[in-house]
Amino acid sequence: MSQSAVMSKTFAIIFAVLTASSITGMITMVIMYNTEIGEYNVTAPPTVPSTTPAPPPIMRLPTNLVPESYSVFLRVHLYTRIPHQVNVTSPNQTLLFDGNSTVFFYCDRPTRTIYLHSKDQTVENATVRNRDQNQAIPVLQPLKFHQDQSNFLEIMLEEELKEGQNYSLFVEFRGQVSENLEGLFLSTYHEGDPKDDGNSDTDRFLAATNLEPTDARRLFPCFDEPAMKAKFNVTIIHRKGTTALGNEAKQGADSPFLQFSFKSTEMMSTYLLAFTVSELNKADAFHSDISVSVDSTTYARPEATAAGYTAYADNITGYILSYYQDYFDITYKGKLDQVALPDLGVAGMENWGLITYQEGGVLYEEGVSSWLHKGDIATLIAHELAHQWFGNLVTMKWWNEVWLNEGFATFMSFMAVCLCPPQKDVYFMSALHAAFEEDALASSHPLNPPQQQVQTTLEIIEMFDTLTYCKVRVQILLHLCSLLLFQMYLSQFQYKNVDQDDLWDNILKALQETGKEFAVEKYMKTWTLQTGFPVLTINTTSGDYSQKLALNDLVLALESPFRWFVVFNCTNDLPPMSVLQTGRREDFRSKEGEWILVNVNSTGYYRVNYDPDNWRRLLDQLATNPNMIPVINRGQLIDDTFNLARAKMVDVTLALNFTQFLSNEKEFLPWESAVRNLRYFVLMFDRSEVYGPMQFSFFFRYNQINAIQVACSNDLPECLEMVEDKFALWMKKSTPICAPSSTARLWPLEEKTEWEFAWAKFQSSNISSEKEQLRAALSCTKTIWLLNRYLEYTLDPEKIRLMDVASTINYIAQNEAGQALAWNFIRAHWDYVSQDGASLIEGVTSRFSTQFELEELEAFAAKYDLGSASRAVDQAIEQTRVNIRWVKENREKILEWFETAVDNAS
Ligand SMILES: [Zn+2]
Repeated sequence: MSQSAVMSKTFAIIFAVLTASSITGMITMVIMYNTEIGEYNVTAPPTVPSTTPAPPPIMRLPTNLVPESYSVFLRVHLYTRIPHQVNVTSPNQTLLFDGNSTVFFYCDRPTRTIYLHSKDQTVENATVRNRDQNQAIPVLQPLKFHQDQSNFLEIMLEEELKEGQNYSLFVEFRGQVSENLEGLFLSTYHEGDPKDDGNSDTDRFLAATNLEPTDARRLFPCFDEPAMKAKFNVTIIHRKGTTALGNEAKQGADSPFLQFSFKSTEMMSTYLLAFTVSELNKADAFHSDISVSVDSTTYARPEATAAGYTAYADNITGYILSYYQDYFDITYKGKLDQVALPDLGVAGMENWGLITYQEGGVLYEEGVSSWLHKGDIATLIAHELAHQWFGNLVTMKWWNEVWLNEGFATFMSFMAVCLCPPQKDVYFMSALHAAFEEDALASSHPLNPPQQQVQTTLEIIEMFDTLTYCKVRVQILLHLCSLLLFQMYLSQFQYKNVDQDDLWDNILKALQETGKEFAVEKYMKTWTLQTGFPVLTINTTSGDYSQKLALNDLVLALESPFRWFVVFNCTNDLPPMSVLQTGRREDFRSKEGEWILVNVNSTGYYRVNYDPDNWRRLLDQLATNPNMIPVINRGQLIDDTFNLARAKMVDVTLALNFTQFLSNEKEFLPWESAVRNLRYFVLMFDRSEVYGPMQFSFFFRYNQINAIQVACSNDLPECLEMVEDKFALWMKKSTPICAPSSTARLWPLEEKTEWEFAWAKFQSSNISSEKEQLRAALSCTKTIWLLNRYLEYTLDPEKIRLMDVASTINYIAQNEAGQALAWNFIRAHWDYVSQDGASLIEGVTSRFSTQFELEELEAFAAKYDLGSASRAVDQAIEQTRVNIRWVKENREKILEWFETAVDNAS
């Protein structure tokens, strides 16, 4: 008897008993949607009339049926390895999965039609029962699958479901494990010595899920909306020799039939459901330095756990969990597994109790990973752990408010990693600047758009952009939020769904507890419902101030009616105050020629422009004693002047003058700000005559930063100087080059032999940090045919994993020799690469600054199906127009400034 025959029998027995299960302790959650959000007139989801038959709603489920729990039995047929035995035919790999589910729900309003979601599956044998009367309700055949973006499965009934009664719906389903990282997907890796690669006996396969935002419907038919929370009782049936992990701990003994039932989950959204079936394992006998009451384990490839690569994640998880439990005063519930997957479409996913990561996001490879990578790992883990409270315990009602999940998780992750100095400020500032950059385009969007603008899966995916993650800094937290607020908000709404009004109510209550009054909603909606952010313009002679929209396009900015409540702070020690519109303040006046600095430590989400005299005074201070200005502001002054210059609010030479103090600057943040802003100059001019003097005067100093980075990553400076010799040695003796991250761009990869040597190293490496560094380095060659071939490799998942396609093409596009090739390539293969279209468009068009490029981009927008990249294409078109104008207006001045700088230096 084969294994699969045994499993089929087990499966049949399980199916026979499942409908007998009953759920106790049900929580009825009636979903109430707020029908108005301020003046933006947000429409509620469609409701179904109280008698049926009902016309199908457009994209949202009707709210008349309220799911309470699911029992799901799911069988994964996948082999994690294909054994080759003498004289025995090896089994064929199978990507089929099948199973059944029963959803227990409550009828809030009568209906004869059940709508739920199902995608890319066969569904049959639907059975509906009235649980109160133990009666079957006949189902009309056939079941109707809506062939549109709603993914609705419509089940029509012979009788009406009655208000106030409890029902169950049983269905059987079949589907395919995805090879495109969607829903339940296949991941592959190679075990053992890299030299054995090509020997299929060492190939390993695993199945894992990734269901956010709308892929639970690919797993089994369900009410796949975040506010339709339920408890999930999951049983996974899988082959012998493999391990299943789920959201909750296993219950019952590990039977010889390999049926694993998991304890019931808490009330949670469908997108948080997860499981894996694999041969991944955990490190032996790990002891965290800190005791938290949570059972926490990190899983990875057996070789990675044996090498100790999960130790850092295990350790930091204890610290971060303990920090959050204390901070929120809510204990984490359940067990916590974290899994490093060889393939995953996102860096990390916060599934309740079973967090999944790309390997590079969680494995710390001693001796290969740079120590800076520790900060990135800690921040990512802290982000996903913060979601266990912000997102999992308290969830947004609908995806238009996903910032309530992502913004808070990002913010809290930076708070938590301040446990590991000194990177907190760096993370805060890079998030702020990333948000500014996107928000300075007229094609940006409000943090909290109306629900009706976010309906389809593509529109939902578009919401997961930089603004959603980074704009929450919008003054909310730094001026209004307090520990008390977080604790009140999380405890009041645990296991429920919220919208922004719930947050404002809680801020108000928290303020009242401390004896303060504030028009929170009025104040905050200027930040969440309006696109963009302000520039505060201050005249330090008169004390006059005004504000306008901060856009790269000044003409559009002047037309904008938007105004914000800006809470500002100032160097003159006055308590924070708020301003709206225009006015005059005595404390904005400079006394006795002193400089004034507003937005100290960049706590506000706005830029500041001053009168020329104050700019000059600030420049003088930086030239004489820069430490009088806080380090964050030294970076911010550079960022503000460069961006104000882009909008023509100050002259571009003022911005360049603000880089002159850097020759004495020792701190990272001001340098980072200059490098990032001058990168725009490089992109605009690296194909022109301006590049020569710019390179000479700027990159001479840039090398100093590079030296700082090298020192930071624990490398010897000699490594940089002797990189070519070392590379040659590496080829000759296989002596690994030291820390490729800091030197990769200097590798001599122009010739076929060297490039292919590095490529072979990339293919055979089992260490994610090394692979990442090699993948980036390979894009730096200037040899066109090597770049073209490398682009072709991205079409073959055996060569470049699907999750790495977009970043590899973007690496190539960053290379000026590869940019045009990459642009041609993504257009030629848009069907294959468009899953990551938004990121590709942003990366590949960042150098666009000619009329010809603009026309090509516009033609692309008109001709191609842009999918979830459509906002990114709008932004790229707008940015290209801005670039064309900026280059035309500033080219001469910039050339002159750099030529003078070269003369002064020589
Ligand atoms: Zn997140």
